[in-house]
Amino acid sequence: MKKQLEPADYELLACAREAIVRNYDAEQFHHTVGAAVRCADGQIFTGVNLYSMHGACAEQVALGAAVTAGQREFTCIVAVRGAQGEEVVPPCGNCRQILLDYAPKCAVILEDTEGMFKLYAEELLPFAFRVEG
Ligand SMILES: [Zn+2]
Repeated sequence: MKKQLEPADYELLACAREAIVRNYDAEQFHHTVGAAVRCADGQIFTGVNLYSMHGACAEQVALGAAVTAGQREFTCIVAVRGAQGEEVVPPCGNCRQILLDYAPKCAVILEDTEGMFKLYAEELLPFAFRVEG
């Protein structure tokens, strides 16, 4: 169910925008997406996409940085595209699976014609594959 953004979510959005504004590169490495993930303790980690045949999405880079730092609980994630991070982009299919595996209750900021809202990661992948166990 759609949830409204809270003030902390706008801060997260600003962090994602800052990550891509600082690293935007449409020519050589095609860094065009920035992401930010907020952890349960309030820390924020950011990432930009790594472009390659099997590149890594910005969400994966941000989540990977957080996991590397020892974080395991995530409350919200957002990705933005463009030189100014002007466009909120939804996670791709692979990222939806990763979010489901690592953080099913993590909120994901999305945008439609009525504006921004949040859904839980698990809501973005119905009938999902789940690892046994
Ligand atoms: Zn992705």
